Amino acid sequence: MYSMLTATSMAYLIVFFAIVVSAPPTVKSIMLYHKRHRFRCTLCGNCCRLRIINLTKEDINRLQAAGKKDYIAVGGEPRLKRVNGKCIFLKDDRCLVHEHRPKVCREFPFFKTWGIGYAREASFCLAMENLQNE
Ligand code: SF4
Ligand code: SF4
Repeated sequence: MYSMLTATSMAYLIVFFAIVVSAPPTVKSIMLYHKRHRFRCTLCGNCCRLRIINLTKEDINRLQAAGKKDYIAVGGEPRLKRVNGKCIFLKDDRCLVHEHRPKVCREFPFFKTWGIGYAREASFCLAMENLQNE
């Protein structure tokens, strides 16, 4: 009985510490999401260089309907190919498929999970840093 109580207490303690450790960054990213209308993208293109872009079925259908071919990386989950260390569609810091770009590109750096909006902090995104410093 005693050891069962101890095990239960330990489990509660672990959950409690996990919440304490993760709560401040989570609250911060939710607060940043609510300031998203003040986000000013600098068009630096870093998010197109430094991120892996996973594709949904809708993304693939949209890009194919737009006549894009041979842009899916081989192996694993469908994702955009990278060429010379950047997304295959990035040219001169501009997106060649802007109108048809994948969902994750449209949303970055603001996302919603289970109805809760949050900002994805990224050290390479100066606009997000500016938003944080406001
Ligand atoms: S990294 Fe940030 S500032 Fe640069 S293009 Fe992407 S969203 Fe805009
Ligand atoms: S599809 Fe366009 S917006 Fe998305 S990573 Fe590639 S260049 Fe950037």
